[in-house]
Amino acid sequence: MAETMTGLKRTHYCGTLRPEHIGQEVVVCGWVQRQRDLGQLIFIDLRDRTGIVQLAFDEGTSRDIFQKAFAVRAEFVLLARGLVRERTSKNMEIPTGEIEVEVQELRVLAKAETPPFEVLEDSNVKEDTRLKYRYLDLRRPNLQRNIIARHKLVKIAHDYFDRHGFIEIETPDLIASTPEGARDYLVPSRVFPGSFFALPQSPQLYKQLLMLSGFDRYMQVARCFRDEDLRADRQPEFTQIDFEMSFVDQEDVMAIGEGFIQEAYREICGVEIPLPLPRLTWDEAMRRFGSDKPDLRFGLELTDVSGLLQGTGFKVFAGALAEGGSVRGICLKGEAEKLSRKEIDKLQEWIKAYGAKGLAWTRLAEKETSSYEKFLTQEESAAIRAAMGAEPGDVLFLVADGDNSVVFASLGALRCELARRFDLIDASRPCLLWVTDFPQFEYSKEEDRYVAMHHPFTAPRDEDLDKLESDPGHVYAKAYDMVANGYELGGGSIRINDPEVQERMFQALGFTPEQAQARFGFLLNAFRYGAPPHGGMAWGLERIMMVLLGVDNIRDVVAFPKVASSAEPMSGAPGRVDPKQLAELGIALLPGEENT
Ligand code: ASP
Repeated sequence: MAETMTGLKRTHYCGTLRPEHIGQEVVVCGWVQRQRDLGQLIFIDLRDRTGIVQLAFDEGTSRDIFQKAFAVRAEFVLLARGLVRERTSKNMEIPTGEIEVEVQELRVLAKAETPPFEVLEDSNVKEDTRLKYRYLDLRRPNLQRNIIARHKLVKIAHDYFDRHGFIEIETPDLIASTPEGARDYLVPSRVFPGSFFALPQSPQLYKQLLMLSGFDRYMQVARCFRDEDLRADRQPEFTQIDFEMSFVDQEDVMAIGEGFIQEAYREICGVEIPLPLPRLTWDEAMRRFGSDKPDLRFGLELTDVSGLLQGTGFKVFAGALAEGGSVRGICLKGEAEKLSRKEIDKLQEWIKAYGAKGLAWTRLAEKETSSYEKFLTQEESAAIRAAMGAEPGDVLFLVADGDNSVVFASLGALRCELARRFDLIDASRPCLLWVTDFPQFEYSKEEDRYVAMHHPFTAPRDEDLDKLESDPGHVYAKAYDMVANGYELGGGSIRINDPEVQERMFQALGFTPEQAQARFGFLLNAFRYGAPPHGGMAWGLERIMMVLLGVDNIRDVVAFPKVASSAEPMSGAPGRVDPKQLAELGIALLPGEENT
């Protein structure tokens, strides 16, 4: 039977003991990292969330304690009382490595079966197994550090926003479905069979209403839900650090936003981020880096060579230009000898995932080769080389497409891939910036209409207001994203506070007044009662953590994450429910779906 703690209390965490404690009696508790039986001597490494301390059992230890120590296995839960003493063989690799606890009393608080994997800092156990036994996985020090750093960030957020006069207000989790953006998670209503709540994708509408109510400055650490296919940096449920403020313009919001991120870097990484953060307009970010979340830790900027190819006889380039697209490229400096022809062929396949039909290249190795120069005049080839600053040893890559977004997406991705492969990223310094002046709309081929690039409540720039109906493709928004190391950390906008403009916006998005009223009626009505100018932004908490900690798997900053299918392997969610529960909700499964 397991022993209890009765009569004893923990005096110290394992990882906090130091030479200054030598001679003191301490009580430590934790899990057995490992037990080493050297015959006359037994050592146990005891672990808690602060680290590891060595428990020592030797000739001075009473027989029954020695025997107990002998029977201890990995992950047993122990309490040990004893004297801190100096170690004979010190381990300077760990903070407690100069001392050990000479155990005088040992209690086994819980036994443990042999775990499915060893609890180690870096484990190469398959992620499926780790997630199935997440509670064991979470004993690993690196995950504990991540989760504790996450707590710290939330605390910094609360303190920072409180200091700046923001009030945390919880907005509801069961709300009306207003699909615009990602897919909603739906929750059936029992009281109104056939009706559904949605889980919030963000607190957007509510935080705007709070501005209308006069709270002036709101913040929330808010859970959000988006039913999307997952990518490496997404989870279906995630946390936003969300804020909104009244009687402000874009500059005020951005100043509050960058102040927070500066504080987060300072407190968590000890890194001082100079403010104001650099800015790029969306147009410039796309033009130079092919991305609205450019990683500025390396160069490899894009060059537009379309102007040099007017009237070219090469069909691929001419065709792209005739369709209103462009030909752009990247010059990879000095790597021609290292990038084999075979690897270039592979890149040509790889880039198709981004919509590019092909990747044209020139390799300025000792023997110059090119996939496209034979189709151009000498002048055209020479002009392209000159424009791209090509020198011997370089490799030039070109993408041509009638759709500029394909050119940008593929070269933007190629840029990052080349930087990664050739180790061009200066990881020693974070690179933060704002991307501003986003287009208000993007055209959705799927829906055959304009959709909001940010969301439908974002205000257009004043100078673009009259283009809302006549030229929506050239309307830019008072919207801004904060980007770090190629990740979008967060974004926001100044909102529309004039109900008339809001109605025009819905119209531009293809809603009839009735449809707009049906979906967003409460907001439109509310705005008739005096909405102050307001704006805000939200960060993805997990995204910030990934960038702060340099982690590239979002699941490593979430205690109990979902896998790519949105399932949760440990508890088995989502799961079947009792037919009685379904009946109460007035829900019947389609034939054939009962047993899938
Ligand atoms: N609610 C927005 C989002 O989730 C952020 C904002 O505009 O404040 O992207």
